[in-house]
Amino acid sequence: QIYGDRTNSLGLNMNIHSQADDFIAAVQQYRDKQWQGGPIVDGKTVETDHHVSITSPQETSKQIGSIYWGDKQLADQALTSANKAYRAWREVPVEERAKSLEKFADLMEANRNELIAICSLEAGKGLQDGIDEVREAVDFCRYYANQARKLMGEPIQLPGPTGEDNELFVEGRGTFICISPWNFPLAIFVGQIAAALVTGNSVIAKPAEQTGLIAYRAVQLALEAGIPGNVLHFMPGSGAEVGSFLTSQEDIGGVCFTGSTYTAQAINRALAARTGPIVPIVAETGGQNAMMVDSTALPEQVVTDVVASAFQSAGQRCSALRVLFVQEDVADRVIDLLRGAMEELSVGDPLLHETDVGPVIDGIAKTNLEQHISDIQQAGRLIARAPMPDYTLGGTFVAPTAIEIDSISQLVKENFGPILHVIRYSTDNIDEVIDSINATGFGLTFGIHSRNETFAYDVASRIDVGNVYINRNQIGAIVGVQPFGGRGMSGTGPKAGGPHYLTRFITEKTRSDNI
Ligand code: GLU
Repeated sequence: QIYGDRTNSLGLNMNIHSQADDFIAAVQQYRDKQWQGGPIVDGKTVETDHHVSITSPQETSKQIGSIYWGDKQLADQALTSANKAYRAWREVPVEERAKSLEKFADLMEANRNELIAICSLEAGKGLQDGIDEVREAVDFCRYYANQARKLMGEPIQLPGPTGEDNELFVEGRGTFICISPWNFPLAIFVGQIAAALVTGNSVIAKPAEQTGLIAYRAVQLALEAGIPGNVLHFMPGSGAEVGSFLTSQEDIGGVCFTGSTYTAQAINRALAARTGPIVPIVAETGGQNAMMVDSTALPEQVVTDVVASAFQSAGQRCSALRVLFVQEDVADRVIDLLRGAMEELSVGDPLLHETDVGPVIDGIAKTNLEQHISDIQQAGRLIARAPMPDYTLGGTFVAPTAIEIDSISQLVKENFGPILHVIRYSTDNIDEVIDSINATGFGLTFGIHSRNETFAYDVASRIDVGNVYINRNQIGAIVGVQPFGGRGMSGTGPKAGGPHYLTRFITEKTRSDNI
């Protein structure tokens, strides 16, 4: 039996030229637009003393707008208002909250081209990534709206042996602090707030420092859709100031965070150090994601899926493939094909249809990635670096790179960009490979390419991860289809876009009624 309803949005097929051309022309119109944003408290944008200009990763001299940053005082004001508002919001029938999310989804679809343009100019994401980003944001709203109807529509009736009526109610917990990443600056931003809002919580949403403009636009649309201004507040600002302040307050209802493992651990400590209520943290973090390819796999399909998994979105997905294990009998052939495929990759302007790989998010990311490439090359053997056009010098581009190494233990941290490590294995050391992957402590995605069913299922069951993909790429989880999220150092669960996600945003009340 299939769980769930097919409510996913349809997106747009870029292989149909007439559709693609009109769409690209519409998005390109926004190339020189300037966007403005700032904190939104009680429905009003606040102009603070801290005004930050936003530049584009594909051309760092190009300003695309500016945003005001909030501070502790303003965050405190938002929290006071959110805490007052949530009691009335949790009494609003779930059907109404769900309808507001659906309206929000419709508005994002209606503004899709602008959202994709901001996503590309602010975060460096490509056109296909932009389409997928809006689809995912829309899907999160519609999916969580339906899940909330199921979870909160009617109280659960429980047995009452003595004639007593027993019922179990679920309701929101208070104010959720939602802290989202720059790599899915719309989809994850929206997914977090949608889950918290539809379950009857107030929200203070803090976007990543790099991507406040698209988040600001999303909040404007959410307010337009009917989410009350005292229930949803927006607080761009520095993580060290605004993020730390909010996650250390006593009177919050919970935290929803996507970003680095390091920051998730710091938030967890901050929550533990508070006095007051013990609140949930929903964290989704990184991975040292691997794929195993055995000698029965189809090399051409392997390489297509490896390139997508490692280099799409410039490798800036927490699901992205970092370490490819190839059985030694087929390794030379797979590596040759991989080298050929990487030479064909087109790196450059993400707003062009022909571009496969855009820039990384900023100069700090570029420096760290280049440093890792130079360090690991000394311990390994370079397989290939994709060519880059000259104009990419003006942006924070990193050429997709593949390097052969000896062991996954040589990787001391997650390298969040277009870098693939390749390791040969023999059939004698499969157990060692599996142990070494599990020993990283991360557990997000894992890929297998094999036509040996027994091998594939055996490995799938022994690898400690949240998402396993067999004979396909390992990115691009679809809401309600591949609920997404990991375990261990990769996150707390429950999975985003899955049937249990909303359960972390609610609290329960049993009513034993003898009236
Ligand atoms: N859900 C995304 C995927 O499946 C990754 C999310 C992330 O990078 O945080 O590719």
